Amino acid sequence: MRRIGVIGGMSWYSTAEYYRVINERVQERLGGHHSADLLVHSLDFAEIRQCQIDGDWERAGKIMATSAAGLAGAGAQLVVLATNLMHKAAGAIEDAIPVPFLHIADAVGHEATRLGARQIGLLGASPVLTDGFYTERLARHGIGTVVPDAPTRARLDEIIFDELTVGEVRPESQAELLAAVEGLAADGAQAVALACTELELAVMTAKVPLIATARTHALAAAERALAA
Ligand code: GLU
Repeated sequence: MRRIGVIGGMSWYSTAEYYRVINERVQERLGGHHSADLLVHSLDFAEIRQCQIDGDWERAGKIMATSAAGLAGAGAQLVVLATNLMHKAAGAIEDAIPVPFLHIADAVGHEATRLGARQIGLLGASPVLTDGFYTERLARHGIGTVVPDAPTRARLDEIIFDELTVGEVRPESQAELLAAVEGLAADGAQAVALACTELELAVMTAKVPLIATARTHALAAAERALAA
């Protein structure tokens, strides 16, 4: 089994899910007392959040790259970044490590393909929906995307950064998220990716298939670690 390195803490609520899901899958597959060989570097999210607010993606990229290099230096044989948004810095991470980096949008692309969805809706922080780094990666898998309108995107940012990433799940926000999922389905999405790793803590089921990105990514990491 390969050692997995997780760059986490963005937020720690969803990183805890990675830890649980990866271990569950390894135990399921190997049985008994088996658990994952796993390193987690949990960053202080306040520092990363400030970079996002300042639009300082270069500094954020350096922090991600340093974390990834530290994990690889500590023996990680594959690295995952436990947030969708910070995949904006995926290139900096890939350049910093000699081991594979499992991109979250690739895991989502494979899951969409498995579900038979050629067009998926995306819910997440604004840059994930509008800056191209995520949708272009999905396009490599032949997956088209549908994103919410600007007012809904602004509301998603509020729900993500004022509530979910500080550990709050408000029922009225859950209802809004579900309405956003349904709006994307009405616009032609055959499945909806919860492309913020905290969203699956707030929305679990809908009429359209949901792709829980933290779970999907964590399972992909576990499978890769277990592959011969
Ligand atoms: N966890 C969220 C995501 O998956 C947003 C938090 C962040 O990385 O800023 O995009």
